[in-house]
Amino acid sequence: MIIVFKPNATKAQLKHVENYLTSHGFEYHPSQGHENMIYGIIGDTQSLTPEFFKVFDGVSNAFRVQESYKRCSRAFHPRNSIVKVGKISIGGNKIAVMAGPCSIENKDMLNNISKEIVGYGANMIRGGAFKPRSSPYAFQGLGKEGLLYLREVGDRLGIPVVSEIMAIGDIPLFQEYVDVIQIGARNMQNFSLLKELAHVKKPVLLKRGISATVDEWLNSAEYLASKGNQKIMLCERGIRTFEKSTRFTLDLSSVPVIKKKSHLPIIVDPSHPMGERELVIPMARAAIAAGADGIMVEVHNNPDEALSDGAQSLYPKQFNELMKEIEIIAGALGKTIAKN
Ligand code: PEP
Ligand code: MN
Repeated sequence: MIIVFKPNATKAQLKHVENYLTSHGFEYHPSQGHENMIYGIIGDTQSLTPEFFKVFDGVSNAFRVQESYKRCSRAFHPRNSIVKVGKISIGGNKIAVMAGPCSIENKDMLNNISKEIVGYGANMIRGGAFKPRSSPYAFQGLGKEGLLYLREVGDRLGIPVVSEIMAIGDIPLFQEYVDVIQIGARNMQNFSLLKELAHVKKPVLLKRGISATVDEWLNSAEYLASKGNQKIMLCERGIRTFEKSTRFTLDLSSVPVIKKKSHLPIIVDPSHPMGERELVIPMARAAIAAGADGIMVEVHNNPDEALSDGAQSLYPKQFNELMKEIEIIAGALGKTIAKN
């Protein structure tokens, strides 16, 4: 249930509603809109009726929220949420560009790629250390060693780093070494992992599941928000459809849909759905044009020899060209690329 107060509601009128809610076992989530203060009520609201609250002094309106993802819904929090990562703020008029190799293969390649892409304007470095590979015989990642290299390069270049977590037991490692914890598509509905990450204070990047609807994705985000992790970014990475000409179908329509339904920032990963570097570039441009708050792209300095996802990894020079293009597209929308 949502309670919308009148623009001139007094502190005493707010307090009266607060007292009623807390004394009846409900939590409330205040959110200051452009004109009105809004309270989202959390708890089993079946016993409450909107009509009951409409007659409280200072209340302008009250209505039920249909969605089960309350804290992540725009009704609860009408303004865009801004997630701070190091010096950059994601979700407003700054574009986040997370770039780097699919997997951290060794220290030198990570250092070389990172130095070059940061020079071209990447504002976050990505790199997988624990890899969710379809085959058990494929490269599984360097594990902790990879996270150490990532932390080192992030500190040296003054750039936040993002990497994917797979297991609950690795949470302390990720707390120590990364700035943003990525939850991969395959773990979007790993509710045990989500419940544990809900207590973590670090920003989280929640990828869309391979066959998840937007509402299922937002419900997964709600697991994180329900226990207090408010620093959530969503990441569209394509879904499985009947279309076989690309690896997955990049559902860019989810960008405006998420903006309508939720206040959370949304990042687009065009690399994993497109699967081929020449196809990644136009969809990266399209993501920014569609209103995404950032992109995540795979870049490799020797993609022919990459241990994972070489075919979709951009050459650093291509990444440089892409940065120039998205800067122009972002500019048309009154946005700029975030700088550390
Ligand atoms: C990745 O970002 O390297 C990755 C494995 O992505 P996804 O979970 O979207 O497949
Ligand atoms: Mn990859």
